[in-house]
Amino acid sequence: MKLIRFGNPGQEKPGIIAEDGTRRDVSAFIPDYTGDFFENDGIARLSDWLASQETAPPEVAQAVRLGPPVARIGKIICIGLNYVDHAAEAGMDLPAEPVLFFKATSALCGPNDGLLLPRGGEKTDWEVELAFVIGRTARYVNEADAMDYVAGFCLHNDYSERAFQLEHCGQWVKGKSCDTFAPLGPWLATRDEIANHDRLGMWLTVNGAKKQDSSTANMAFKVPFLVSYISRFMTLMPGDVVTTGTPPGVGMGFKPPQFLQAGDVVELGIDGLGSQRQVVRAADSI
Ligand code: ZN
Repeated sequence: MKLIRFGNPGQEKPGIIAEDGTRRDVSAFIPDYTGDFFENDGIARLSDWLASQETAPPEVAQAVRLGPPVARIGKIICIGLNYVDHAAEAGMDLPAEPVLFFKATSALCGPNDGLLLPRGGEKTDWEVELAFVIGRTARYVNEADAMDYVAGFCLHNDYSERAFQLEHCGQWVKGKSCDTFAPLGPWLATRDEIANHDRLGMWLTVNGAKKQDSSTANMAFKVPFLVSYISRFMTLMPGDVVTTGTPPGVGMGFKPPQFLQAGDVVELGIDGLGSQRQVVRAADSI
């Protein structure tokens, strides 16, 4: 299944994208897709409920805004330098173990809401990434069992202000957490929907020019290992999001570097996970 949340920011309702491509409102079944929904076998119960309906749930117009496909996300854990070539373009070695960092959940937004360049930012950059959503409470999980803890997958743009990230001392979190720096969606594809999450094509363009063009096959640390590895250091809760790192082609990797300006248009996609489009605006303009 493909799970969506639709409506104005903060007022989203749960829905699905049906086999025929129509969007359907399932708020009669569940008020929202929270961690409780995933923990309590909500995906299977929603599937059963849909199969039991004599008529399809109400249709949602294609023009209606989409929000992030999961509600009240507890934490966003990011993996750094997880593609060999990206580590090289960043001038860093591929780490011996996954690099973990956090992104503030207040950065979350819908897939097409647009990017706000933060005040004082000079080096705002893009990162197309495969994200996955935790479906069950996970602590000390074996790699062999890890996929049982994954509810599904989403497209994510891990926006990054490189000056905030690298030139202001301390951890990367400062450069990863500005408002609108975590567009997620358009949908959450449930695990059964994505047979080969480790072989998905992924791309990103700026003003129509291809910048990133790779595959999740090039990830150094794969999803099952990441679930197991992170669960050694913290409990992963249902609804938590893990974003798995970006391939080469980010702005800071170009010579000279290329960073985003107001008016730019960023588009990105991953096989089976849809696409996003963000128009760049200056935060001072709102
Ligand atoms: Zn990233």
